[in-house]
Amino acid sequence: MPTVETLRGPVDVGELGQTLMHEHVFVVATEHLDNYGKGAWWDEEHRVADAVTKLNAVAAKGVRTIVDPTVWGLGRYIPRVQRIAEQVPGLHIIAATGIYSYEELPHQYEHRGPGLIFDCPDPMIDDFVRDLTEGIADTGVKAAFLKCVVEAKGLTPGVERICRAVAQTHVRTGAPITVHTNSFAQSGLIALDLFAKEGVDLRKVVVGHSGDSNDLDYLMRLADTGAILGMDRFGLDVYNPTAQRVATIAALCQRGYADRMVLSHDAACFMDYFGGAWDDTLGTLAPNWRYDHIHDDVLAALLDSGVTDDQIEQMLVFNPKRYFS
Ligand SMILES: [Zn+2]
Repeated sequence: MPTVETLRGPVDVGELGQTLMHEHVFVVATEHLDNYGKGAWWDEEHRVADAVTKLNAVAAKGVRTIVDPTVWGLGRYIPRVQRIAEQVPGLHIIAATGIYSYEELPHQYEHRGPGLIFDCPDPMIDDFVRDLTEGIADTGVKAAFLKCVVEAKGLTPGVERICRAVAQTHVRTGAPITVHTNSFAQSGLIALDLFAKEGVDLRKVVVGHSGDSNDLDYLMRLADTGAILGMDRFGLDVYNPTAQRVATIAALCQRGYADRMVLSHDAACFMDYFGGAWDDTLGTLAPNWRYDHIHDDVLAALLDSGVTDDQIEQMLVFNPKRYFS
């Protein structure tokens, strides 16, 4: 059996089990944390302990793996996640490489690359490949998949360069891709078109946040390419309420698409977008935006809507396993 890299090293894909395909442990930008969080809203020990509690709780519900697409731009910091992984022995955590940007290229790549001031092969690709094949910084942890974004603004020059670098890294390494998309702008189509032109195997692409849409024509156009729909924001009712998300998944299962959907929440133990107000914000604005909403509420709702146990297993176990195989 093939293996997949996790925070604690390689694991047989047969051991991944029930997998939530898009969850963050932390979304905390290092510069924000170092300059404004420390001494204010950030308590490292409290946050690590809180994460350990939340992740052990979801493992107790039967989840064996979470796939964490936190990359540069969202505050990837592997040593902190490693500390947590050591204390959550029942859960595999899979790390990503790539860049999260809606528009701009990081300045660090602005002058280096083909035809630029420092004319050389794109160093972004070298960095992504190193994360996947040698490890991230000096942590010993290897990334197992790639992440990029195509938002409502589409392929800005910065986004296009990042997406092409991600696609070319996929072609070179075989690592699968998760792309954040804006379902209301239907940007998943733009992402898949670019990937196809770069020679990406679209069966290895999760079109992230597809579940924000209930437009079956749009969703089937994506899935008919072979790509996987990320039904991955359960609990974010502000984009699409749970009942609607469930109805859309049930409709797609009925049409034969259970082999092209994965489930998740896009939740985090802590997200610095709300600063110190995170715990309060979460409780009032999105009380179901947590790792166990799917097991506590959504699976029963899917069954009530006519989705079968086999289809749930397909979405939670077999599709993630195939993606990482
Ligand atoms: Zn996310």
